[in-house]
Amino acid sequence: MELKNKRVLVVGLGRSGVAAAIFLQQQGARVTVSDTRTEAELQKEIPALLDRGISLETGRHAERTFRDQDLIVVSPGVPSDQPQLQHARTLGIPVIGEVELACRFLQGKIIAITGSNGKTTTTTLVGEILGKSGRKTLVGGNIGTPVISLAGQSSPDSFVVLEISSFQLETIQQFRPWIAAILNITPDHLDRHGTFQAYVDAKARIFENQQASDFAVLNADDPTSAGLKSKLKGASYWFSRKQGVENGACLKNDQIVFLSNGQETEVLPVSDIHLKGAHNLENVLAAVCVGMIAGCEPQQVRKAVAEFRGVEHRLEPVATLNGVSFYNDSKATNVDATIKALESFPGNIHIILGGKDKGSDYTVLNSLLRSRTKAAYLIGAAAEKIKSHIQGSTQLIYSGTLDRAVRQAFEAAAPGDVVLLAPACASFDQFENYEQRGRIFKELVHALTPVTTGERA
Ligand code: ADP
Repeated sequence: MELKNKRVLVVGLGRSGVAAAIFLQQQGARVTVSDTRTEAELQKEIPALLDRGISLETGRHAERTFRDQDLIVVSPGVPSDQPQLQHARTLGIPVIGEVELACRFLQGKIIAITGSNGKTTTTTLVGEILGKSGRKTLVGGNIGTPVISLAGQSSPDSFVVLEISSFQLETIQQFRPWIAAILNITPDHLDRHGTFQAYVDAKARIFENQQASDFAVLNADDPTSAGLKSKLKGASYWFSRKQGVENGACLKNDQIVFLSNGQETEVLPVSDIHLKGAHNLENVLAAVCVGMIAGCEPQQVRKAVAEFRGVEHRLEPVATLNGVSFYNDSKATNVDATIKALESFPGNIHIILGGKDKGSDYTVLNSLLRSRTKAAYLIGAAAEKIKSHIQGSTQLIYSGTLDRAVRQAFEAAAPGDVVLLAPACASFDQFENYEQRGRIFKELVHALTPVTTGERA
């Protein structure tokens, strides 16, 4: 892709937008960036752009800005059906995302992982497996380092492991992973995608440009992702914790085994896994499957899994105070992740729920709330909606803020109980992001003063 002297507009100044703008400018393009946030809100991002001579439009997306371009690079945070983008498309201006831009410049083998939940955990673990197996490994995407920032570091012998979101997949054209995995598909982001089918279609695009020499990895236990079988063009591999598979990773006598073309390899005992919950077993199975397809040695895969302690804010153990265990699952920003969190404990849970609603149906939590929780502490903008969906399933406490929820849960909890932040909502109503929500939760927990049994009584 020739960028020299091309007029390129970058829409949206998130982390990947800033990285794309800088990359484009380094390639000799004449770059403009446009963001609806005000200059004051973009204080952090602006200096690096102005220093490089990048033009800036803030506080709006003017139609004219979108007209005079050779290429538009849109950030995953910006809905790809925005009127200005639609108009640009009618004028014949190519509109692509940062992942698409990056794939034109990335060297090496691309491993792309998507799914509603488990992407970061699985991508991180795949990175560990490949890295510990001596491969030149780069990890990025939705996980932190923008894909475009990896382009310059990649070389033909690189294994580029990417966490890819449905939003990023909406704006691909030629993106073609060597190994593409979908971990699961459950309703999420319906506020943006509109319908579940549109969301599934976006996820399925990860396979769109694959060819017979590529590999697709799917979850045999998840009916929606398994239903994508007809879309696969590469060799299909499956992972399952419930059934045997012909090609892929599954369980046999408490061992994870990998099967490929009639050959079975024992990789590791399930007891080597340190992560909690059946969902994490699925993530490990997926990562093992990818690692083995990529040609890693089973001993190295085993070592990487055994040493892996999970990722911050994902069912992260925080502390035990007066026998009450606190878990930070701030990344449980949708209902399915909350279900998985609840399923990870046998009972006596005090769950903190709420935040910014994403058009979710919380009634699906009811049976687990009834069977495994002692109480739910409701916080944030979604509290009223959640209350109306889950009333009668467990004791409901309207806490309003995370601070009050933590204190109230601690006061109510008995030794052996679990206090779980797994809010089923986004965080943006009260926090900058889920990371800040998780960090504040941990600070609040660490600030609690353990009391003596006498005081509690
Ligand atoms: P993602 O990057 O897809 O958001 P994470 O690994 O960050 O995935 O996990 C997000 C949330 O989903 C966390 O609350 C985590 O405990 C939960 N989770 C992780 N893996 C799975 C899975 N395979 N199925 C359902 N929930 C999961």
